[in-house]
Amino acid sequence: MSDRIYLVLLGAPGAGKGTQAQLLEEKLGIPQVSTGEIFRYNLKNQTELGQLAQSYYDKGELVPDEVTIRMVEARLAQEDAAQGAILDGFPRNLIQAQALDEMTAAHGGIDVVPMFQLEDDVVTLRITGRRVCRNCDRVYHLTFNPPRGENCDSCGGALYQRNDDKPETVQNRLYVYYKQTSPLIGYYFAKGLLEVVDGAKSIAEMQEQLLKRLASRNIEAAKSAVSA
Ligand code: AMP
Repeated sequence: MSDRIYLVLLGAPGAGKGTQAQLLEEKLGIPQVSTGEIFRYNLKNQTELGQLAQSYYDKGELVPDEVTIRMVEARLAQEDAAQGAILDGFPRNLIQAQALDEMTAAHGGIDVVPMFQLEDDVVTLRITGRRVCRNCDRVYHLTFNPPRGENCDSCGGALYQRNDDKPETVQNRLYVYYKQTSPLIGYYFAKGLLEVVDGAKSIAEMQEQLLKRLASRNIEAAKSAVSA
């Protein structure tokens, strides 16, 4: 029985998963669970987990599965995820995907896997132009989604470029994506869960496209968001 909604957003880094997950969170009433963001929080606060993740993160490599899986398990057990979650950046390989299947099995498993399709050169442009608020983690793009002024529109915090968004790391992140994460496209396709969406569209168009696809897959909250 599916008493919780679990969405997995797939696609290369920079394809727009985080931006869309933030918007979906409000419409569907379930939280975005971004492993990248959890790592960034831990790096910023220099926790034990942050120290462990640092060297992998800075090179654009995957943090070891055992650590990452345990972290997601703990996050999904939190109260705000009692109706489900929008997974953004997890799973990133087959071992993580199998672990997520096990974690969600008692609640009907994963419902839909939107896959954001985008050309590599656009991905690179998107990543290198990205800026993040140091205070509230809101994400901007200097060209496609600029802040009104120099600082964050939501909280006035300073914006910065992630270490791993610098051009020298981006190539490696794409390599890691193709080598380790892209096999998940086949994995979820075979389960009948994949919905390919056009990642080159505007933020608003993508959101509309996503909600329609989710509605067609009987996600009730998406149906009311589409008709609203
Ligand atoms: P993201 O913000 O999703 O692009 O993630 C930034 C970085 O965090 C990645 O390059 C990895 O170093 C680490 N990371 C995020 N999600 C995962 C994951 N599911 N497994 C391993 N490492 C991850």
